[in-house]
Amino acid sequence: MTGNIAAVREALDHLDIDDNPATLKQKSRDFFWYSPVLKEKMDHLIGDFVVSPRSEEEVIEVLKTCFAHDVPVTTRGAGTGNYGQAMPLAGGVVMHMKNMTKVKEIHPGRVIVEPGKVVKDLDAETRAHSGQEQRMMPSTYGTATIGGFIAGGSGGIGSVRWGALRDLGNILRLRVVTMEAEPRILEFTGEDLARVSHAYGTNGIITEIEMPLAPAYDWVEFALGFDDFMQAAQFGYDLAQQDGILVKLITPIEAPIPFKFFKRFSGHVREDQSILIVLVAPHSLDGFTAFMGRNNDPDVIYRSDASTFERTPGHLAEYTWNHTTLRALQVDPTVTYLQVRYGGPDPLAKVAKVRETFGAEVLQHLEAMREGGNVIYAGLPIVDYSDEARLNEIIAIHEELGCMIFNPHRYTLEEGGRQKTDDRQLKFKQEADPKGLLNPGKMISWDDPNWSYDTMYAYPKMKQAS
Ligand code: FAD
Repeated sequence: MTGNIAAVREALDHLDIDDNPATLKQKSRDFFWYSPVLKEKMDHLIGDFVVSPRSEEEVIEVLKTCFAHDVPVTTRGAGTGNYGQAMPLAGGVVMHMKNMTKVKEIHPGRVIVEPGKVVKDLDAETRAHSGQEQRMMPSTYGTATIGGFIAGGSGGIGSVRWGALRDLGNILRLRVVTMEAEPRILEFTGEDLARVSHAYGTNGIITEIEMPLAPAYDWVEFALGFDDFMQAAQFGYDLAQQDGILVKLITPIEAPIPFKFFKRFSGHVREDQSILIVLVAPHSLDGFTAFMGRNNDPDVIYRSDASTFERTPGHLAEYTWNHTTLRALQVDPTVTYLQVRYGGPDPLAKVAKVRETFGAEVLQHLEAMREGGNVIYAGLPIVDYSDEARLNEIIAIHEELGCMIFNPHRYTLEEGGRQKTDDRQLKFKQEADPKGLLNPGKMISWDDPNWSYDTMYAYPKMKQAS
């Protein structure tokens, strides 16, 4: 399905192009290999060349040229997504946003920025400018781009206070270029944001972003030790509901994950000890200490402002969200993970049921989140992987227990997300990408309106392994 690649390559020759085989291979991949299922299906994928536009005008030129020659375009931020979101299933152009990094304006409570800005660098600029920070960021903030976060991510550090990216108010405005003979520039706010946010770049390219900001703090990082995982989970759940204590992260992690996989914690945490990671604003420390006192004063294994570790563990945020999985994979490449939503009025009862059902086969790692004014837990458990059939069985059992799964072993929007088609995204694709050239194969409803969730979707035009 790659259209006339040679014509596009020639027409775009004056832009920042990379077709060195080694970088092309690297820029055609993301963190899909976290999933043994995706690793097997996607490892061979490669684009035809990489182009890195420097401006919105150049984005328009790339899209217009590719449209004229029927060449697919897969956009790439930093390629830290986990579901092959940024991988060109049908080959074609990889459009890398690395040159679009300008912070255009900073105001009280908001920032306007280009999509290729690395989240950490954006945070540094808003902090230096006016003591403001991103409300939420992925644990990959050090490398991920803000555009990739919006198009491919969901939430992260800060979600305990602010909810998920999809919640109203967590993105203010997106400027988007369409894939047509004459690309249009559109601006989205409010309800319309859902058309393009978390759409994997399948229906428009984001060229400018307006995000809300919060006051920045020098967050104090804690790792607390618990003999029983459910105590850690309960402590975190209750803490998240303390409206007056400002926290940015609450992460319970079940034993023996910290002992086995967090190397810098060696000698500080017992094999049977679960931990709770918390980020607290400095002015909330007294309240937090009092809260610990009310709840049996858990062991303080680590605190960043009074560390007893001989080697710093680094930022504790980089032990949370999918960094927990990364650390596990670095020690034991045979494990894998799931993404679970423990919602409803009693998320802890669901966690308890799942633990009872699977024991050590599914070790718990939770993230507290705000949702509609309530606290829920997201789960990114570490799964002792045997094969795909058992993994699917584990997923089915979770769903029978009332725990929704966002399947990280699928490369499509529908299967990885809410397991249904998103009409708003599909309708916008029909008008903004009429030839279906943007990140082809990732939106099932575009290719197969009769799809049902029963079997894994296989994109028929996927590049074959040679
Ligand atoms: P990429 O992976 O490059 O792209 C993501 C998607 O966005 C792709 O489909 C791409 O085509 C599309 N895209 C990129 N730029 C644009 C654009 N300008 N216009 C249109 N489409 C575009 N995710 C979370 O949400 N929270 C976490 O806490 C988190 N933790 C992680 C931890 C680890 C260790 C890893 C490996 C991943 C984690 N992720 C997390 C997933 C991922 O890192 C984030 O979603 C990250 O924000 C993606 O940014 P990126 O620049 O790498 O995007």
